[in-house]
Amino acid sequence: MSMPATERTNLLGLPRPALESFVAQLGSRPFRARQLMNWVYKRGTGEFAEMTDLAKDFRARLGHSAEVRPPEVVRVQRSADGTVKWLLRADGTQAFEMVFIPEPDRGTLCISSQVGCALDCSFCATAQQGFNRNLTTAEIVGQVWLASTQLGREAAGADPAAPAGAEGPLERRVTNVVLMGMGEPLANFRNVVPALDILLDDFGFDLSRRRVTLSTSGLVPQIYKLAEVSNVALAVSLHAPDDALRNELVPINRKHPIAELLPACWHYLDEQNGRSVTFEYVMLDGVNDSPAQARAVARLLKGHPAKVNLIPFNPFPGTRYTRSPAPVIQRFRDELLQRGVLATVRRTRGEDIDAACGQLAGKVIDRTTVRLGNKLIGVAVQP
Ligand code: SAH
Repeated sequence: MSMPATERTNLLGLPRPALESFVAQLGSRPFRARQLMNWVYKRGTGEFAEMTDLAKDFRARLGHSAEVRPPEVVRVQRSADGTVKWLLRADGTQAFEMVFIPEPDRGTLCISSQVGCALDCSFCATAQQGFNRNLTTAEIVGQVWLASTQLGREAAGADPAAPAGAEGPLERRVTNVVLMGMGEPLANFRNVVPALDILLDDFGFDLSRRRVTLSTSGLVPQIYKLAEVSNVALAVSLHAPDDALRNELVPINRKHPIAELLPACWHYLDEQNGRSVTFEYVMLDGVNDSPAQARAVARLLKGHPAKVNLIPFNPFPGTRYTRSPAPVIQRFRDELLQRGVLATVRRTRGEDIDAACGQLAGKVIDRTTVRLGNKLIGVAVQP
């Protein structure tokens, strides 16, 4: 690795085998990588000086050539319902977001995989800003590291202001991670897969594979590839029961239509011994929410290990869609249930801070937008 001495290796970007070779390059034994991971991920420290069971000269070499650097926080917002949203700096001008959603039985961290998104789904705020770049493995893992260490510190301080939910106290630790923030994770396959490895590694975050969910708009070839290298839970953005409507809502459908997408999902489950695929379905008033459309969704999924998660549409400035009324969503759900298809309605959280699904856009207070054609390509963060 020929690297200028000033450019230290960010350990958050190295899954265990890569960390072992890095440690070996520094002249230490590969098993030291596990000790190092224990400090970084279990104890949540990136200070080599604190890692007292590592030899002093090894610590000095680490200090010279390595670092544990999560993304820099631009702003933190807290919702009345306990949801927390972080705006994070990607570099001089770009920002991305992550959201923590506490519930009584779990704490879910929703992380981003790209700055912006290239897929152009018509109902998603992220799509409006266009695509800027892929996040690195260190930036993806760094989100989880940052949230875990920060929430851990708050819990240690026993923050009395932390809101309690209607059903009692809320889980304040990160117990689940969903790749449902900005970006299409399977379009950043190369950086996302090593990040998943670190999330699942016993010496990393040690999350069970059922507590890590990757959500995709339906990149069919990458679903097959993912089946070979990972076994996290899969969520797929369906949003329509037929190609004509899905072409309009999720344009990648023109390349990978429903008849190719569904077999890829069942293949994933077969390979991974998974329990079911979650199909996300955004509820758009008068667009995809009729009982006939619910019955069509049921026909697609019936008899397969699938569940449907209905997401009430979250509006954002400039959108032409509105949210389906609650009784329409209930009726849609009942149509599915009556046909033996499991369906739930996602509770909207963090609405008061624009932290709900599809609202993540990396906005900042002093923002300058750059336009390429008629598309926003970035959000400038004032230094
Ligand atoms: N690119 C991935 C993951 C990001 S979005 C994917 O498409 O699955 C996570 C979920 O939020 C997706 O199902 C997405 O379709 C949905 N979503 C996007 N915009 C939304 C909005 N405005 N309201 C509700 N859900 C939305």
